[in-house]
Amino acid sequence: MDDSQKKHIAILGSTGSIGTQALEVISANPDQFQVEVLTAHSNADLLAEQALKFKANAVVIEDESKYKALKDRLFDEGIKVYCGSDALAQVVEMEEIDMVLTALVGFAGLKPTLRAIDAGKHIALANKETLVVAGELVTKAAREKGVNIYPVDSEHSAIFQCLAGEFHNPIEKIYLTASGGPFRGKTRKELESVTPAQALKHPNWNMGAKITIDSASMMNKGLEVIEAKWLFGLKPEQIDVIVHPQSIIHSIVQFEDGSMKAQMGLPDMKLPIQYALGYPERIKSDFPRFEFWEYPKLTFEQPDYETFRNLQFAFDAMNKGGNAPCILNAANEVVVKAFLDGQLGFLAMSDIIEACLENVTHIPKPSLSDYFETDKETRTYAASLIPALQNK
Ligand code: NAD
Ligand code: MG
Repeated sequence: MDDSQKKHIAILGSTGSIGTQALEVISANPDQFQVEVLTAHSNADLLAEQALKFKANAVVIEDESKYKALKDRLFDEGIKVYCGSDALAQVVEMEEIDMVLTALVGFAGLKPTLRAIDAGKHIALANKETLVVAGELVTKAAREKGVNIYPVDSEHSAIFQCLAGEFHNPIEKIYLTASGGPFRGKTRKELESVTPAQALKHPNWNMGAKITIDSASMMNKGLEVIEAKWLFGLKPEQIDVIVHPQSIIHSIVQFEDGSMKAQMGLPDMKLPIQYALGYPERIKSDFPRFEFWEYPKLTFEQPDYETFRNLQFAFDAMNKGGNAPCILNAANEVVVKAFLDGQLGFLAMSDIIEACLENVTHIPKPSLSDYFETDKETRTYAASLIPALQNK
Protein backbone atom coordinates (compact mmCIF):
# COMPACT_ATOMS: atom_id res chain seq x y z
CA MET A 1 0.00 0.00 0.00
CA ASP A 2 1.42 3.42 -0.83
CA ASP A 3 1.15 6.29 1.63
CA SER A 4 -1.96 7.81 0.06
CA GLN A 5 -3.97 4.62 0.69
CA LYS A 6 -3.01 4.43 4.35
CA LYS A 7 -5.17 5.95 7.08
CA HIS A 8 -3.41 9.05 8.36
CA ILE A 9 -3.80 9.33 12.12
CA ALA A 10 -3.42 12.05 14.74
CA ILE A 11 -3.09 10.82 18.33
CA LEU A 12 -3.93 13.35 21.02
CA GLY A 13 -2.24 12.08 24.18
CA SER A 14 0.20 9.70 22.48
CA THR A 15 2.39 9.29 25.58
CA GLY A 16 -0.42 7.87 27.75
CA SER A 17 -1.80 4.39 28.24
CA ILE A 18 -4.16 4.47 25.24
CA GLY A 19 -1.75 6.51 23.13
CA THR A 20 1.18 4.12 23.54
CA GLN A 21 -1.02 1.08 22.89
CA ALA A 22 -2.38 2.75 19.74
CA LEU A 23 1.20 3.20 18.56
CA GLU A 24 1.83 -0.52 19.19
CA VAL A 25 -1.15 -1.29 16.94
CA ILE A 26 0.15 1.10 14.28
CA SER A 27 3.65 -0.32 14.59
CA ALA A 28 2.31 -3.82 13.92
CA ASN A 29 0.41 -2.59 10.84
CA PRO A 30 2.70 -0.14 9.06
CA ASP A 31 1.02 -0.85 5.72
CA GLN A 32 -2.36 0.36 7.05
CA PHE A 33 -1.58 3.45 9.08
CA GLN A 34 0.59 6.55 8.91
CA VAL A 35 1.15 8.76 11.96
CA GLU A 36 0.65 12.45 11.15
CA VAL A 37 0.41 14.15 14.55
CA LEU A 38 1.36 13.19 18.09
CA THR A 39 0.66 15.28 21.19
CA ALA A 40 1.45 15.13 24.89
CA HIS A 41 1.02 17.12 28.03
CA SER A 42 4.59 17.21 29.34
CA ASN A 43 6.50 14.00 28.56
CA ALA A 44 8.68 15.60 25.87
CA ASP A 45 11.26 12.80 25.82
CA LEU A 46 8.79 10.07 24.97
CA LEU A 47 6.97 12.36 22.53
CA ALA A 48 10.24 13.04 20.68
CA GLU A 49 11.11 9.34 20.56
CA GLN A 50 7.67 8.49 19.19
CA ALA A 51 7.77 11.28 16.62
CA LEU A 52 11.15 10.10 15.30
CA LYS A 53 10.19 6.43 15.26
CA PHE A 54 6.88 7.00 13.46
CA LYS A 55 8.11 9.88 11.26
CA ALA A 56 5.35 12.19 12.42
CA ASN A 57 4.61 15.32 10.48
CA ALA A 58 3.98 17.45 13.59
CA VAL A 59 3.89 17.27 17.39
CA VAL A 60 2.25 19.43 20.05
CA ILE A 61 3.44 19.71 23.64
CA GLU A 62 1.04 21.31 26.10
CA ASP A 63 3.71 22.30 28.63
CA GLU A 64 5.37 25.42 27.21
CA SER A 65 8.53 24.99 29.31
CA LYS A 66 9.35 21.87 27.26
CA TYR A 67 8.87 23.53 23.88
CA LYS A 68 12.32 24.84 23.08
CA ALA A 69 14.27 21.67 23.82
CA LEU A 70 11.73 19.62 21.89
CA LYS A 71 11.93 21.94 18.91
CA ASP A 72 15.73 21.80 18.94
CA ARG A 73 15.57 18.03 18.91
CA LEU A 74 12.98 17.60 16.13
CA PHE A 75 13.35 20.59 13.85
CA ASP A 76 16.29 19.22 11.88
CA GLU A 77 14.40 16.01 11.33
CA GLY A 78 11.70 17.98 9.51
CA ILE A 79 9.11 17.53 12.25
CA LYS A 80 6.98 20.57 13.10
CA VAL A 81 6.76 21.41 16.80
CA TYR A 82 4.01 23.45 18.43
CA CYS A 83 2.93 24.11 22.00
CA GLY A 84 -0.11 25.05 24.04
CA SER A 85 -3.81 24.22 23.95
CA ASP A 86 -4.62 26.53 21.02
CA ALA A 87 -2.07 24.69 18.90
CA LEU A 88 -3.61 21.39 20.02
CA ALA A 89 -7.03 22.53 18.82
CA GLN A 90 -5.59 23.78 15.53
CA VAL A 91 -3.32 20.92 14.59
CA VAL A 92 -6.24 18.49 14.19
CA GLU A 93 -7.39 20.49 11.18
CA MET A 94 -4.31 19.52 9.12
CA GLU A 95 -5.36 18.42 5.70
CA GLU A 96 -3.37 15.17 5.76
CA ILE A 97 -5.26 13.78 8.77
CA ASP A 98 -8.08 11.25 8.18
CA MET A 99 -8.76 10.24 11.77
CA VAL A 100 -8.11 11.71 15.21
CA LEU A 101 -7.68 9.39 18.19
CA THR A 102 -8.63 11.38 21.29
CA ALA A 103 -6.53 9.72 23.99
CA LEU A 104 -6.02 12.67 26.28
CA VAL A 105 -7.67 12.92 29.69
CA GLY A 106 -10.58 15.03 30.83
CA PHE A 107 -12.32 18.22 29.79
CA ALA A 108 -9.19 19.24 27.84
CA GLY A 109 -10.42 16.90 25.09
CA LEU A 110 -13.56 18.88 24.31
CA LYS A 111 -12.09 21.72 22.26
CA PRO A 112 -9.76 19.71 19.99
CA THR A 113 -12.46 17.05 19.44
CA LEU A 114 -14.96 19.68 18.30
CA ARG A 115 -12.37 21.29 16.05
CA ALA A 116 -11.51 17.93 14.50
CA ILE A 117 -15.20 17.23 13.84
CA ASP A 118 -15.65 20.67 12.29
CA ALA A 119 -12.71 19.93 10.01
CA GLY A 120 -14.45 16.69 8.92
CA LYS A 121 -12.03 14.26 10.60
CA HIS A 122 -13.37 10.94 11.82
CA ILE A 123 -12.92 10.42 15.55
CA ALA A 124 -11.68 7.38 17.42
CA LEU A 125 -12.92 8.39 20.83
CA ALA A 126 -11.16 7.31 24.00
CA ASN A 127 -11.65 10.64 25.77
CA LYS A 128 -15.09 9.81 27.20
CA GLU A 129 -15.18 13.05 29.22
CA THR A 130 -15.89 14.97 26.00
CA LEU A 131 -19.16 13.10 25.45
CA VAL A 132 -20.06 13.28 29.13
CA VAL A 133 -19.64 17.05 29.18
CA ALA A 134 -21.18 17.99 25.85
CA GLY A 135 -22.54 14.84 24.22
CA GLU A 136 -25.50 16.56 22.61
CA LEU A 137 -23.40 19.23 20.98
CA VAL A 138 -20.62 16.88 19.90
CA THR A 139 -22.90 14.23 18.37
CA LYS A 140 -24.95 16.92 16.60
CA ALA A 141 -21.79 18.43 15.10
CA ALA A 142 -20.66 14.98 13.98
CA ARG A 143 -24.02 14.28 12.30
CA GLU A 144 -23.94 17.63 10.51
CA LYS A 145 -20.40 17.07 9.26
CA GLY A 146 -20.92 13.43 8.31
CA VAL A 147 -18.20 12.46 10.75
CA ASN A 148 -18.16 9.05 12.43
CA ILE A 149 -17.30 8.64 16.10
CA TYR A 150 -15.77 5.21 16.68
CA PRO A 151 -15.71 4.16 20.32
CA VAL A 152 -12.40 3.06 21.83
CA ASP A 153 -13.72 2.45 25.34
CA SER A 154 -13.93 -1.35 25.56
CA GLU A 155 -17.59 -1.45 26.65
CA HIS A 156 -18.72 0.86 23.87
CA SER A 157 -16.58 -0.95 21.35
CA ALA A 158 -18.35 -4.13 22.47
CA ILE A 159 -21.77 -2.56 21.89
CA PHE A 160 -20.61 -1.20 18.54
CA GLN A 161 -19.35 -4.66 17.51
CA CYS A 162 -22.65 -6.26 18.59
CA LEU A 163 -24.54 -3.76 16.44
CA ALA A 164 -22.68 -4.69 13.25
CA GLY A 165 -25.30 -5.87 10.75
CA GLU A 166 -28.19 -4.77 13.02
CA PHE A 167 -28.65 -1.33 11.51
CA HIS A 168 -32.46 -1.55 11.24
CA ASN A 169 -33.04 -3.43 14.48
CA PRO A 170 -33.77 -1.15 17.43
CA ILE A 171 -31.92 -1.69 20.69
CA GLU A 172 -34.19 -2.60 23.59
CA LYS A 173 -31.50 -2.21 26.19
CA ILE A 174 -27.77 -2.37 26.77
CA TYR A 175 -25.84 -3.79 29.71
CA LEU A 176 -22.49 -2.15 30.36
CA THR A 177 -20.25 -4.52 32.28
CA ALA A 178 -18.06 -3.27 35.14
CA SER A 179 -15.25 -5.16 36.82
CA GLY A 180 -16.13 -3.52 40.14
CA GLY A 181 -12.53 -2.37 40.51
CA PRO A 182 -10.17 -3.04 43.41
CA PHE A 183 -12.79 -2.23 46.08
CA ARG A 184 -15.65 -4.44 44.93
CA GLY A 185 -17.52 -5.85 47.94
CA LYS A 186 -16.00 -3.37 50.38
CA THR A 187 -18.17 -1.54 52.94
CA ARG A 188 -18.21 2.23 53.44
CA LYS A 189 -16.38 1.72 56.73
CA GLU A 190 -13.57 -0.11 54.90
CA LEU A 191 -13.42 2.55 52.19
CA GLU A 192 -12.85 5.36 54.71
CA SER A 193 -9.17 4.58 54.98
CA VAL A 194 -8.17 3.32 51.51
CA THR A 195 -5.07 4.99 50.03
CA PRO A 196 -4.29 6.21 46.49
CA ALA A 197 -1.78 3.36 46.16
CA GLN A 198 -4.54 0.79 46.88
CA ALA A 199 -6.95 2.53 44.52
CA LEU A 200 -4.34 2.55 41.76
CA LYS A 201 -4.15 -1.28 41.75
CA HIS A 202 -6.81 -2.30 39.24
CA PRO A 203 -7.39 -6.07 39.11
CA ASN A 204 -7.81 -6.42 35.31
CA TRP A 205 -6.65 -3.29 33.47
CA ASN A 206 -3.47 -1.22 33.45
CA MET A 207 -4.53 2.38 32.71
CA GLY A 208 -3.72 6.04 33.37
CA ALA A 209 -4.09 7.33 36.95
CA LYS A 210 -7.33 9.28 36.51
CA ILE A 211 -9.36 6.48 34.94
CA THR A 212 -7.94 3.99 37.45
CA ILE A 213 -9.26 6.08 40.36
CA ASP A 214 -12.55 6.50 38.45
CA SER A 215 -12.74 2.71 38.20
CA ALA A 216 -12.15 2.28 41.92
CA SER A 217 -14.92 4.78 42.73
CA MET A 218 -17.26 3.48 39.98
CA MET A 219 -17.32 6.97 38.47
CA ASN A 220 -15.79 5.44 35.36
CA LYS A 221 -18.91 3.34 34.84
CA GLY A 222 -21.06 6.39 35.52
CA LEU A 223 -19.20 8.36 32.84
CA GLU A 224 -19.56 5.39 30.49
CA VAL A 225 -23.34 5.29 31.01
CA ILE A 226 -23.55 8.90 29.80
CA GLU A 227 -21.06 8.19 27.01
CA ALA A 228 -23.26 5.29 25.82
CA LYS A 229 -26.39 7.44 25.82
CA TRP A 230 -24.82 9.80 23.28
CA LEU A 231 -22.90 7.28 21.20
CA PHE A 232 -25.91 5.04 20.64
CA GLY A 233 -28.78 7.53 20.96
CA LEU A 234 -30.35 5.76 23.96
CA LYS A 235 -32.84 6.81 26.60
CA PRO A 236 -31.55 6.63 30.20
CA GLU A 237 -33.87 3.71 31.01
CA GLN A 238 -32.30 1.65 28.19
CA ILE A 239 -28.92 1.59 29.95
CA ASP A 240 -28.08 -0.78 32.78
CA VAL A 241 -24.86 -1.67 34.58
CA ILE A 242 -23.89 -5.16 35.66
CA VAL A 243 -20.79 -6.07 37.66
CA HIS A 244 -18.76 -8.83 35.98
CA PRO A 245 -15.47 -9.19 37.87
CA GLN A 246 -13.61 -11.22 35.22
CA SER A 247 -13.87 -8.50 32.50
CA ILE A 248 -14.32 -11.09 29.74
CA ILE A 249 -17.77 -10.01 28.53
CA HIS A 250 -17.16 -6.40 27.54
CA SER A 251 -20.84 -5.45 27.24
CA ILE A 252 -24.18 -6.72 25.95
CA VAL A 253 -26.95 -5.52 23.62
CA GLN A 254 -30.50 -6.79 24.08
CA PHE A 255 -32.75 -6.50 21.03
CA GLU A 256 -36.55 -6.22 20.86
CA ASP A 257 -37.01 -9.98 20.31
CA GLY A 258 -35.22 -10.60 23.62
CA SER A 259 -32.04 -11.85 22.01
CA MET A 260 -28.81 -10.71 23.66
CA LYS A 261 -25.48 -10.29 21.89
CA ALA A 262 -22.28 -9.97 23.89
CA GLN A 263 -18.72 -9.30 22.80
CA MET A 264 -16.05 -11.28 24.65
CA GLY A 265 -12.30 -11.53 24.86
CA LEU A 266 -9.38 -11.10 27.18
CA PRO A 267 -9.16 -7.60 28.67
CA ASP A 268 -6.74 -5.91 26.28
CA MET A 269 -7.32 -2.34 25.10
CA LYS A 270 -5.35 -2.96 21.92
CA LEU A 271 -8.35 -4.81 20.50
CA PRO A 272 -10.91 -1.98 20.77
CA ILE A 273 -8.23 0.55 19.74
CA GLN A 274 -7.45 -1.51 16.64
CA TYR A 275 -11.14 -2.04 15.83
CA ALA A 276 -11.72 1.74 15.93
CA LEU A 277 -8.65 2.56 13.85
CA GLY A 278 -9.19 -0.22 11.34
CA TYR A 279 -13.01 -0.14 11.04
CA PRO A 280 -14.71 -1.75 9.19
CA GLU A 281 -11.89 -4.25 8.84
CA ARG A 282 -10.91 -6.74 11.56
CA ILE A 283 -7.14 -6.70 11.27
CA LYS A 284 -5.36 -9.99 11.94
CA SER A 285 -3.55 -9.80 15.26
CA ASP A 286 -1.36 -11.88 17.53
CA PHE A 287 -3.04 -10.65 20.74
CA PRO A 288 -3.28 -13.46 23.35
CA ARG A 289 -6.35 -15.67 22.81
CA PHE A 290 -8.97 -16.55 25.43
CA GLU A 291 -8.73 -20.03 26.97
CA PHE A 292 -12.00 -21.33 28.42
CA TRP A 293 -10.37 -23.50 31.10
CA GLU A 294 -8.63 -20.46 32.55
CA TYR A 295 -12.06 -18.95 33.23
CA PRO A 296 -14.31 -21.81 34.33
CA LYS A 297 -16.81 -19.29 35.77
CA LEU A 298 -18.07 -15.97 34.51
CA THR A 299 -20.07 -14.27 37.25
CA PHE A 300 -22.47 -11.32 37.49
CA GLU A 301 -23.62 -9.09 40.36
CA GLN A 302 -25.76 -6.01 40.91
CA PRO A 303 -23.72 -2.83 41.44
CA ASP A 304 -23.76 -1.47 45.00
CA TYR A 305 -25.21 2.00 44.41
CA GLU A 306 -25.22 2.88 48.11
CA THR A 307 -21.53 2.28 48.71
CA PHE A 308 -20.41 3.58 45.31
CA ARG A 309 -22.52 6.72 45.22
CA ASN A 310 -20.79 8.14 42.14
CA LEU A 311 -22.58 5.67 39.92
CA GLN A 312 -25.94 6.91 41.19
CA PHE A 313 -24.85 10.54 40.77
CA ALA A 314 -24.00 9.85 37.13
CA PHE A 315 -27.46 8.37 36.47
CA ASP A 316 -29.00 11.37 38.27
CA ALA A 317 -26.94 13.85 36.24
CA MET A 318 -27.88 12.07 32.99
CA ASN A 319 -31.57 12.19 33.93
CA LYS A 320 -31.36 15.85 34.87
CA GLY A 321 -29.57 16.69 31.61
CA GLY A 322 -28.37 20.12 30.52
CA ASN A 323 -25.05 20.98 32.14
CA ALA A 324 -25.49 18.48 35.03
CA PRO A 325 -23.09 15.90 33.50
CA CYS A 326 -20.56 18.73 32.91
CA ILE A 327 -20.80 19.60 36.63
CA LEU A 328 -20.37 15.93 37.54
CA ASN A 329 -17.29 15.66 35.36
CA ALA A 330 -15.58 18.87 36.53
CA ALA A 331 -16.19 18.07 40.20
CA ASN A 332 -14.83 14.59 39.62
CA GLU A 333 -11.66 15.84 37.92
CA VAL A 334 -10.97 18.11 40.90
CA VAL A 335 -11.58 15.49 43.59
CA VAL A 336 -9.63 12.75 41.81
CA LYS A 337 -6.61 15.02 41.66
CA ALA A 338 -7.05 15.96 45.35
CA PHE A 339 -7.36 12.27 46.31
CA LEU A 340 -4.21 11.39 44.33
CA ASP A 341 -2.38 14.30 45.98
CA GLY A 342 -3.36 12.97 49.42
CA GLN A 343 -5.61 15.94 50.20
CA LEU A 344 -8.90 14.09 50.32
CA GLY A 345 -10.19 10.75 51.52
CA PHE A 346 -11.83 8.28 49.14
CA LEU A 347 -15.41 8.79 50.36
CA ALA A 348 -15.07 12.58 50.57
CA MET A 349 -14.73 12.61 46.79
CA SER A 350 -18.42 11.70 46.47
CA ASP A 351 -19.46 14.27 49.08
CA ILE A 352 -17.94 17.07 47.02
CA ILE A 353 -19.43 15.80 43.76
CA GLU A 354 -22.85 15.68 45.42
CA ALA A 355 -22.48 19.26 46.73
CA CYS A 356 -21.48 20.49 43.26
CA LEU A 357 -24.48 18.82 41.63
CA GLU A 358 -26.74 20.47 44.21
CA ASN A 359 -25.22 23.94 44.23
CA VAL A 360 -23.66 24.82 40.87
CA THR A 361 -26.12 26.69 38.62
CA HIS A 362 -28.13 24.28 36.48
CA ILE A 363 -28.52 25.27 32.83
CA PRO A 364 -31.12 23.18 30.98
CA LYS A 365 -29.98 24.07 27.43
CA PRO A 366 -26.30 25.02 27.60
CA SER A 367 -24.32 26.56 24.75
CA LEU A 368 -20.67 25.70 24.19
CA SER A 369 -19.53 28.72 26.19
CA ASP A 370 -21.92 27.70 29.00
CA TYR A 371 -20.02 24.41 29.27
CA PHE A 372 -16.73 26.26 29.67
CA GLU A 373 -18.32 28.52 32.31
CA THR A 374 -19.84 25.56 34.15
CA ASP A 375 -16.53 23.72 34.11
CA LYS A 376 -14.79 26.75 35.60
CA GLU A 377 -17.47 27.51 38.18
CA THR A 378 -17.58 23.88 39.31
CA ARG A 379 -13.80 23.59 39.65
CA THR A 380 -13.67 26.72 41.82
CA TYR A 381 -16.55 25.56 43.99
CA ALA A 382 -15.24 22.00 44.34
CA ALA A 383 -11.77 23.26 45.29
CA SER A 384 -13.29 25.56 47.93
CA LEU A 385 -14.87 22.54 49.63
CA ILE A 386 -11.64 20.56 49.94
CA PRO A 387 -10.12 22.28 53.03
CA ALA A 388 -13.14 21.49 55.24
CA LEU A 389 -13.10 17.83 54.19
CA GLN A 390 -9.32 17.45 54.18
CA ASN A 391 -8.13 14.08 55.46
CA LYS A 392 -11.68 12.80 55.83
P1 NAD B 1 -3.03 8.66 30.54
O1 NAD B 1 -2.98 9.55 31.73
O2 NAD B 1 -2.25 7.41 30.54
O3 NAD B 1 -2.56 9.49 29.25
C1 NAD B 1 -3.10 10.75 28.95
C2 NAD B 1 -2.41 11.38 27.74
O4 NAD B 1 -3.00 12.66 27.50
C3 NAD B 1 -0.93 11.63 27.92
O5 NAD B 1 -0.30 11.53 26.68
C4 NAD B 1 -0.86 13.07 28.42
O6 NAD B 1 0.35 13.69 28.11
C5 NAD B 1 -2.03 13.71 27.66
N1 NAD B 1 -2.69 14.79 28.40
C6 NAD B 1 -3.16 14.72 29.67
N2 NAD B 1 -3.74 15.88 30.02
C7 NAD B 1 -3.65 16.70 28.96
C8 NAD B 1 -4.03 18.05 28.72
N3 NAD B 1 -4.64 18.81 29.64
N4 NAD B 1 -3.79 18.58 27.50
C9 NAD B 1 -3.16 17.85 26.57
N5 NAD B 1 -2.76 16.57 26.74
C10 NAD B 1 -3.00 16.01 27.92
O7 NAD B 1 -4.57 8.38 30.25
P2 NAD B 1 -5.23 7.10 29.56
O8 NAD B 1 -5.45 6.05 30.58
O9 NAD B 1 -4.52 6.75 28.31
O10 NAD B 1 -6.68 7.67 29.20
C11 NAD B 1 -6.91 8.55 28.11
C12 NAD B 1 -8.41 8.66 27.85
O11 NAD B 1 -8.89 7.40 27.43
C13 NAD B 1 -9.23 9.03 29.10
O12 NAD B 1 -10.30 9.84 28.72
C14 NAD B 1 -9.73 7.68 29.59
O13 NAD B 1 -10.94 7.79 30.29
C15 NAD B 1 -9.92 6.94 28.27
N6 NAD B 1 -9.85 5.47 28.40
C16 NAD B 1 -8.69 4.90 28.82
C17 NAD B 1 -8.61 3.51 28.93
C18 NAD B 1 -7.33 2.83 29.33
O14 NAD B 1 -7.27 1.61 29.33
N7 NAD B 1 -6.29 3.55 29.71
C19 NAD B 1 -9.74 2.73 28.63
C20 NAD B 1 -10.89 3.35 28.20
C21 NAD B 1 -10.93 4.73 28.07
MG1 MG C 1 -14.31 1.28 29.72
